Amino acid sequence: MALVKCPECENEVSDKTENCIHCGYFFNTKKHMSNVSKILVEQTDKKWKMLKLAAIFMFIAGITCMANEAPDVGAGLFIGSIFVYIFAAFGTWWHHK
Ligand SMILES: [Zn+2]
Repeated sequence: MALVKCPECENEVSDKTENCIHCGYFFNTKKHMSNVSKILVEQTDKKWKMLKLAAIFMFIAGITCMANEAPDVGAGLFIGSIFVYIFAAFGTWWHHK
């Protein structure tokens, strides 16, 4: 275990620690940031996947309604699902890294 100087308060702290015990300065800022952005991408990805799934359900519901007694509602759902799917596909592409 080596001691390093904190760039913030200039007290000596262990190089194994993530935060300065004196002032709370975060040492592994880069590592910390990349973890945060990775989680964010995964969460965003899940959100768009859910939207795609919702679009597929709308699509199926639309076809079912059109085949049965509510063709107007079915057509609305059908067209809506296509828009939602395109929106989700665009969102996935836009947030992809
Ligand atoms: Zn410090």
